[in-house]
Amino acid sequence: GGARGVSDTRAPASIVIIEDEVKLAAVLADYLHAAGYVTHTISSGLEAASAVRRLRPDLVLLDLTLPGRDGVEVCREIRAFTDTTIVLVTARVEEVDRLLGLDVGADDYICKPFSPREVVARARAILRRARTRGTPVEIPGLVLDEAGQRARFHDQWLDLTAVEFRL
Ligand code: CA
Repeated sequence: GGARGVSDTRAPASIVIIEDEVKLAAVLADYLHAAGYVTHTISSGLEAASAVRRLRPDLVLLDLTLPGRDGVEVCREIRAFTDTTIVLVTARVEEVDRLLGLDVGADDYICKPFSPREVVARARAILRRARTRGTPVEIPGLVLDEAGQRARFHDQWLDLTAVEFRL
């Protein structure tokens, strides 16, 4: 520890892995953990939604074939109470088109077999996208707080009107 950039003061993003293949889930958790994420693994479809409700993760990796409850149902269940990012994991490439048509509320799809590295790269890209939406944007010395419509340069809050801010 101690080597994090000065601007990275937020808690590490958390990821819930919903996957019943224990080995696969463990490998994914290892890779994501090594990449700096906090992970939780859930192996049952029945517990998935309540776990997400409790853990409030930044990203959910949701396997489609789960014991107890179908991944599509789980996805809808999660989407009913949170707009957190959901990535569906499926072994059936041809399934993705059908899922897109069903509009289950997923943000992205990953097809098995995948390399854990690929999943880490996708997670990073997705989380970056999600975090620049509505959270303060930082560039060296300048902080833009979009929600608060204000900007700070070094330690000084800038006196801006809403119109100036948008510029
Ligand atoms: Ca599975």
